[in-house]
Amino acid sequence: MSKRPILIAEDDAVSRRVLIEALEQAGHQVLVAEDGEQALKLYQQSEVSVIITDWMMPRLNGPGLCKLIRQAESENGSSPAYIILLTSMDRSEDLALGVEMGANDFIRKPFDNLELKARLCNASRIIDLQEELLKKKDEAQHLAMTDSLTGLRNRRAMLDSLHLDEDRTRRERQPLGLVMVDLDGFKAVNDSYGHAAGDQVLMSAADCLRACVRGGDYVGRWGGEEFLIALPGADIIQCAEVADRCRRLLSNQRVRLDNGFALRVTASFGATSGEGVDRPDLFQLIEQADRALYWAKEGGRDRVKIYVGSVDSGPKPL
Ligand SMILES: [Mg+2]
Repeated sequence: MSKRPILIAEDDAVSRRVLIEALEQAGHQVLVAEDGEQALKLYQQSEVSVIITDWMMPRLNGPGLCKLIRQAESENGSSPAYIILLTSMDRSEDLALGVEMGANDFIRKPFDNLELKARLCNASRIIDLQEELLKKKDEAQHLAMTDSLTGLRNRRAMLDSLHLDEDRTRRERQPLGLVMVDLDGFKAVNDSYGHAAGDQVLMSAADCLRACVRGGDYVGRWGGEEFLIALPGADIIQCAEVADRCRRLLSNQRVRLDNGFALRVTASFGATSGEGVDRPDLFQLIEQADRALYWAKEGGRDRVKIYVGSVDSGPKPL
């Protein structure tokens, strides 16, 4: 069972005491509220997975509390709590109302210790399942956004983040920088040393790029041997600096292959940055970075080119 505390909402002091003792004896940590409003506050302040609430309480009653908790859960997307209504009402229309308001289960008052244990056992099964599902969902989401070889974001994740950063930087009147990176002669690595060696080169290049970017920047695998670096807030000079730092580190290190060879790998870099009111949109920026990358390849590879207009600006200003 989840280690989170159980929240009790009960206005009757005697019944409250009995409930607290029963739960504590069973090894649970307990949070206690004397009415529905107080319970709602405690629920908002702490992470609880099980709530045992009386039906009749001053200010906010049990069904009302259920309803507000379900509303809050759907608003913030949190995992649903398991709510047990404590009640002496046993007419079927009352039970139906309780379920409609969001209760998962009922315990009749005065409650029986064995029944309480059985209900909590059921709650714990449901909560464990829910948590397992949530974990699996997170893992699936992570996998769908990650390049399995390098652990970098994949193209889809890059585009998701870039759209957000494009909106944010535009709002905050900040530039948005991009650097497109393409490994030089990568096909030859694959052809001469095999695909396993190619994979090692890609992983090592990914590590190198990750190590060189600034806090807040992020790197993704854009395609085969192509990477994209996003630099929110960076002007073109800063983009060129980061790109050149990556270039130098990459060309100075050697990738040691399984067969003992130490391979020198270089890459070409195209940098751009959009700022101002009528700055290019995201896809235009990507095109600009691509164009500058093309100039870097044309210019002889292992270099950084920046985009400052639709023609090659010549040597980079570093
Ligand atoms: Mg009551």
